[in-house]
Amino acid sequence: MRRRRFLGTTAGAVALGAFAGPGADAASADGGSFDRAMRWGQLAFVENDPGRYDRDFWLDYFRRTHLDAVTLSAGGVVAFYPTKIPFHHRSAWMREGTDPFGDLAGACRRLGMLVVARVDPHALYPEAREAHPEWIAVGDDGQPRRHWANPDLWVTCALGPFNFEHVTGIVREIATLYDVQGIFANRWAGSGWCYCESCRRMFKAASGRELPGSGSDDPARRPYLLWRRQRLLELWDVWDAAIREARPGACFIPNGPPGLESARRAEFLAVDQQARRGLTPPWAFGRSAKQYRAVMGRKPVAGLFSVGVEEPYRWKDSVQAGPEVRIWALDGIANGFRPWFAKFSAVLYDRRWLQTVEDLYAWHHKNERYLRNEAPLARVGLVYSEQTRDFYGKEQAEAKVDDHVKGMYQALLEARVPFEMVHDAFLDPDHVDRFKLLILPNVAALSDDQCRRLAEYVARGGSLLATFETSLYDETGAPRKDLGLRDVFQVSFEGQVDRRVQNSYLALNLETRHALLAGLEEAPRVINSVQRVHVRPLAGFPSPVTLIPSYPDLPMEHVFPRVPPTDDRQAYLRDLGRSRVVYFPGDLDRTFWEVLSGDHARLLANAVDWATNEERPVAVTGPGLLDVAAWRQKESLTVHLVNLTNPMTMKGPYREFVPVGPITVKLRVPEGVRPRRVHLLVAETVPRTEEAAGALTVTVPSVSDHEVVAMDI
Ligand SMILES: [Zn+2]
Repeated sequence: MRRRRFLGTTAGAVALGAFAGPGADAASADGGSFDRAMRWGQLAFVENDPGRYDRDFWLDYFRRTHLDAVTLSAGGVVAFYPTKIPFHHRSAWMREGTDPFGDLAGACRRLGMLVVARVDPHALYPEAREAHPEWIAVGDDGQPRRHWANPDLWVTCALGPFNFEHVTGIVREIATLYDVQGIFANRWAGSGWCYCESCRRMFKAASGRELPGSGSDDPARRPYLLWRRQRLLELWDVWDAAIREARPGACFIPNGPPGLESARRAEFLAVDQQARRGLTPPWAFGRSAKQYRAVMGRKPVAGLFSVGVEEPYRWKDSVQAGPEVRIWALDGIANGFRPWFAKFSAVLYDRRWLQTVEDLYAWHHKNERYLRNEAPLARVGLVYSEQTRDFYGKEQAEAKVDDHVKGMYQALLEARVPFEMVHDAFLDPDHVDRFKLLILPNVAALSDDQCRRLAEYVARGGSLLATFETSLYDETGAPRKDLGLRDVFQVSFEGQVDRRVQNSYLALNLETRHALLAGLEEAPRVINSVQRVHVRPLAGFPSPVTLIPSYPDLPMEHVFPRVPPTDDRQAYLRDLGRSRVVYFPGDLDRTFWEVLSGDHARLLANAVDWATNEERPVAVTGPGLLDVAAWRQKESLTVHLVNLTNPMTMKGPYREFVPVGPITVKLRVPEGVRPRRVHLLVAETVPRTEEAAGALTVTVPSVSDHEVVAMDI
């Protein structure tokens, strides 16, 4: 009622006008029946739930959270329905004549929800192993693998007859017996590499090689990873076909593998990233939303979060503080996820999470039309590369690849730049031309074709910002003689990469008055990054940032520069008119992630703004760490502000929110759009607004955890 009242008022509303937004009638997302589901829930049974849990409580909770779709445990390790398939272990608590899955699934269908059946085929009971030893995964020691967490069970081989035959029978049986819209498989892609007889034989037949050992330099490693992915895609097809044959319209929904690039074939996916652990940044869930959108476009993607502590000790029956659950889910929602809460065990030990999720979902339900996004407004694309991770980063992918991405992500977030992510397999004009700038954070492994596409993007007016070893390797991870993007950067590799540079600095040549140095006018030198590619310029360049080479850092008497300022540029800036190119030969993004120097954040943000070479679609000013996401819906524009300001100084879970404000949001009104009224979806108020020269400036008095500025158009 409160919202209806303020929507009805005209106070604070800006120019009234007919809807004239372009793209409003764009083709609807190809998400099949899942597109209508905005809110998801998952109840995963444990074996002793049948007969012990309160069915009506859950049905009521599903109603109170306005679920459109629910995922319920059906089978796999344990069957929660009266299966007829041999060795499909029925719950020992399921009494004869009962059907816990079917009973709950039917009740949910009668409430109008989509129902997805969950299976988990990663483990087996001993009697199955005795009858079918070929179903069990084998370690590199040649021994069948016992389950790491439960030694009574055995780990299954994902790529052989167990999944392809036995589990196909299970998904077919479920789809035949029940009115399900999909079958969601957890841990379906194997638990580590398998050395069983069928894996050996099939890989040999496919590649002519033996299975690789654990070393990252084994020449069979890359062929194996590619073969494994192919095999999982075949399995996806086999299960999907079995399900569709039994129940037209239903489909297979994989959890996780075989990789982000393959996600594009799905009509719907859930991204399982249940909570933070250790030093996981609070924006990591939102990042996943962007990564999946990069390949799935407008198809619906749900963000699967849990309410418990997600550390290596597992604690699956735990409950986190409400603010931590909220901020994690909210950052996912702000960045385009449809929320999917997951609860394991239908018997509750700690009920504190219930209200947190109910409040969040009630808000989501109430504001659904502003959350049904059609397109992001971002003009910056951050490229990520699975092949760089797999074939260049290998076992060190976290340090060599992810930390660059994280540093760049954090810098963009601190600078409040709305941005999307771009998968390097999709560098065609359809995917990249909506961006003015593509950022390549040490995207080291790029094929000739990918380099050509990036050069064409620049020729069409796009801008590039790249760091460190970007394009110094090919798509297989083999080093190149020179940078693949040499002609775009106009620098040539000199054959040397410094892997640890101690006590080196960047000279900021303030007399150049270059935009890269904005806000650093008092800083003639700042710390350097700690790794560096040696390059030689092939053209003339401005010199706002040059190298102060490393010099001794002890004894203190010897800590002074040994050489006069050099002209060795550490930022190569090309101004080609509309497009601009920035290349940092240092690992500025990764060093920023490690050291979090504000000077590096400033340099990166300035480089983004200079290279983008146009006004930002949304400019946000005010205190705090805010994740900014800007969207267009059918009849509105929204700007999400997620307040990531965390009172836990060192790390870790949010226990309270520290409100920030006032925040000023300046939204560039897209061509042809007439704003009608502006309101705040969390505060439920009408803010102060000013309209001038194609921009609308909104003052948000305060943000606790989240605010959404909504503009009806
Ligand atoms: Zn195997």
